[in-house]
Amino acid sequence: MDAIRDLIEYVANDIGGLAATLFPFALLGLIGLYLLWLVIGYLRVSQVGINAESAVLPTLQLEKAPDGAIEPARGVVYCATDGIAYPAGAVYCSVCESDLVVACANCGATVRAADESCYRCGTRDTLVAASH
Ligand SMILES: [Zn+2]
Ligand SMILES: [Zn+2]
Repeated sequence: MDAIRDLIEYVANDIGGLAATLFPFALLGLIGLYLLWLVIGYLRVSQVGINAESAVLPTLQLEKAPDGAIEPARGVVYCATDGIAYPAGAVYCSVCESDLVVACANCGATVRAADESCYRCGTRDTLVAASH
């Protein structure tokens, strides 16, 4: 029976020693994961920064006809309320926050800039700039 007890004590000590040996490595691994998480978070923030910069691209005030109608070129995203043209990819007006519209580059129908295709002709190339 002593042999079994010795064996149990030997295994217990061995596991304890093993844990003491591995603990610093486990700690290093956790620190490594933490640093990785920080780097990923930083990269995500810098991506958001780039997107925010591209969102403030210069907009263009469209000329209004004497009767107040706005007739921008086909494929140009614009706000029908404010008459402001936006770069391709814009979806909402930054002034009045309404949906931007675009005259379909193919058929001229007025479709929402957020829509993927024209409701009238079905073309996906409603945005001239985005299709090239
Ligand atoms: Zn607007
Ligand atoms: Zn169309």
